[in-house]
Amino acid sequence: MNKMIIIGAGIIGMLTARLLVKAGVSVTIIEQGYAGKESSWAGGGIISPLYPWRYSDPVTRLAQWGQSHYAELLEQIYQTSGIDPEYIQSGLLYLDIEDELEHATLWHKKHHRPFESVSGDRLKEIESGLDFSTFSENKTGWFTDSIAQIRNPRLVRALREDLLKLGVTIEQQTQALSFLSEGDQLKGVLTNKGSFYADQVVLAGGAWSARLLEQCLKTPKIAPVKGQMIVFKAKPDVVSRIVLSKGRYVIPRKDGRVVLGSTLEFSEFDKTTSDTVLEELKQEAYRIIPELRHYPVEKQWAGLRPGSIDGVPYIGEHPQLKNLYINAGHFRNGVVIGLASCQLLVNQLLGQEPIIDPEPYYLNEQRLVDDTQEIDLSMAI
Ligand SMILES: Cc1cc2nc3c(=O)[nH]c(=O)nc-3n(C[C@H](O)[C@H](O)[C@H](O)COP(=O)(O)OP(=O)(O)OC[C@H]3O[C@@H](n4cnc5c(N)ncnc54)[C@H](O)[C@@H]3O)c2cc1C
Repeated sequence: MNKMIIIGAGIIGMLTARLLVKAGVSVTIIEQGYAGKESSWAGGGIISPLYPWRYSDPVTRLAQWGQSHYAELLEQIYQTSGIDPEYIQSGLLYLDIEDELEHATLWHKKHHRPFESVSGDRLKEIESGLDFSTFSENKTGWFTDSIAQIRNPRLVRALREDLLKLGVTIEQQTQALSFLSEGDQLKGVLTNKGSFYADQVVLAGGAWSARLLEQCLKTPKIAPVKGQMIVFKAKPDVVSRIVLSKGRYVIPRKDGRVVLGSTLEFSEFDKTTSDTVLEELKQEAYRIIPELRHYPVEKQWAGLRPGSIDGVPYIGEHPQLKNLYINAGHFRNGVVIGLASCQLLVNQLLGQEPIIDPEPYYLNEQRLVDDTQEIDLSMAI
């Protein structure tokens, strides 16, 4: 039986493990902390890029494949784990996108996605929680009812349970320190708990991926981009849609809690939160849904997104070391694009027909380190 090691038990590592174990591969995941406790736990769980028209085709192709396969996968994981990842098709209402309306409209038309212009009573019907007192009579929003969400902490818990039932070994508190190789062949991974050997290794280390590679290999640019979030302990129906305005979004959860996010901060590997951001996020929440003033903020947290130059993840074999594969750099969209990226990588590992053209995601010379390149935040803000 083929033996594979995956470094990192975030959504990317765990979805990859699931596909591999189901194909009969023996899988061990090495996780430096605890499974599903980093970015994949911290995120908003919107199954769409925030402003999808701002992204390149390679991101769109992964996102669309994921969007059409999530519901089925989540149902399976719910059945086996008994944990509901709370997949809800809440739809997404865009406000304040007049400046890019033409581009947004064309994009939705091209991709056959709903994009309804809503104002007056229809806007109220779509989202009654908005601040109508400050809107002019012709205030317009744009609604796309096909967008869904999941609740991250539940998804990662469900995935972990599912994997354990499927026979995947998850070595927690085990940090990969370096690669064990002979010539240009990878043989395994050296960790703080000893050596692990395998036929192939997948690095799915999220924001930490480059740190491991750069010790001895050419490295794609992946850097942590901190996102701070808050959650209000509100009641059901205070807000019913995901609402996105000026780069800030509210996400209504099934039990009435409302998540508000998020910041984009270059912060190295620091996950501290600040009172200034707490206040700023609260004000943004009140601006979008005034009723939230009446509910307490239950929690504030931060996660580290695996930022890549253009949001296009690196998927494929490392050109310098045979049998080392990477799946990292999903930036703001690891949930929505992660499912397809894992399937694409597994296609390569198992010699299968790829679900989409894998070429744009390869780690070729152009995409390996050029430190002068900056992470582009323009599509993300
Ligand atoms: C605030 C916020 C909001 C977001 N909202 C959304 C959203 O609405 N929709 C969406 O699609 N995406 C969203 N994202 C992005 C998404 O969460 C990430 O892109 C995704 O979680 C990345 O998954 P990952 O598995 O690569 O990384 P992670 O979840 O960070 O997992 C990587 C794992 O690798 C482990 N690891 C790293 N190095 C080592 C090592 N040397 N040895 C052992 N283990 C190691 C880490 O401990 C970690 O557990 C959001 C992110 C944040 C922070």
